[in-house]
Amino acid sequence: MIVRQIWTANSYRNFNYLIACKETGEALAVDPLDHEKCLRAAKDEGWTITQILNTHEHRDHTGGNEALVRATGAKILAHRNAKDKIPGMARGLGAGDVIKVGRTVELEALDTPGHTMAHVCLVSHTDQPALFCGDTLFNAGAGNCHNGGHPAELYDTFANQLSRLPENTLVYPGHDYIENNLRFTLDREPDNAQAKAMLGKVTGQDPGHAYVTTLAVESGVNTFFRLTSPSVIARLREAFPDLPDAPDPRTVFLKLRELRNKW
Ligand SMILES: [Zn+2]
Repeated sequence: MIVRQIWTANSYRNFNYLIACKETGEALAVDPLDHEKCLRAAKDEGWTITQILNTHEHRDHTGGNEALVRATGAKILAHRNAKDKIPGMARGLGAGDVIKVGRTVELEALDTPGHTMAHVCLVSHTDQPALFCGDTLFNAGAGNCHNGGHPAELYDTFANQLSRLPENTLVYPGHDYIENNLRFTLDREPDNAQAKAMLGKVTGQDPGHAYVTTLAVESGVNTFFRLTSPSVIARLREAFPDLPDAPDPRTVFLKLRELRNKW
């Protein structure tokens, strides 16, 4: 499996991806908003885009579908609940469905509600897994729930699915928000030395050659995975004085999500 992360350089800071089979050169495009850059990248590599995967129905993820289908005839895959929202869907996905790309690549769909209720993440069947997580998980952050999502479902997705993946899993999100998210981590947890060091490293980085984290790294710097950290809880109590002594992780997650919206 070969992964190309494509930086769109748009104001929404989207990342698009090509995932290709080494043997056949067939490729799947993830959320190819910038269809021109995706086509150019495929051409440079000698790949043929045969499938498009939309992690969810938002326009900044699906807006390139039509032009890319016109150019390649690729089939559109997305969550089965997105079929009335994404025109031209050829395959609706549910949890555990496997997507093959060429002869060598297998990607498994996770049903990951929260950002929207029709959101899938993909995890590759490779020695070191790769997670394509759309707007569910970001580097050092979590998706918002403003446009058709639910914070409680997002918590369940984090707690019951993402945190159970192997810790060496590579994280490929739908947007480059790392710098801003690390600032939020440090606002919530000023003594987080790992987040501080990472902020120094990624500040001003070229998103065209972005730092790729793993879930192990996320567990150190992503507040939404640090729900039992004493300093996260102590700082949260400043905003929510009624917070119990040992708050349950779900409560902490929901309050953090609320604070992040206002931050
Ligand atoms: Zn979205």
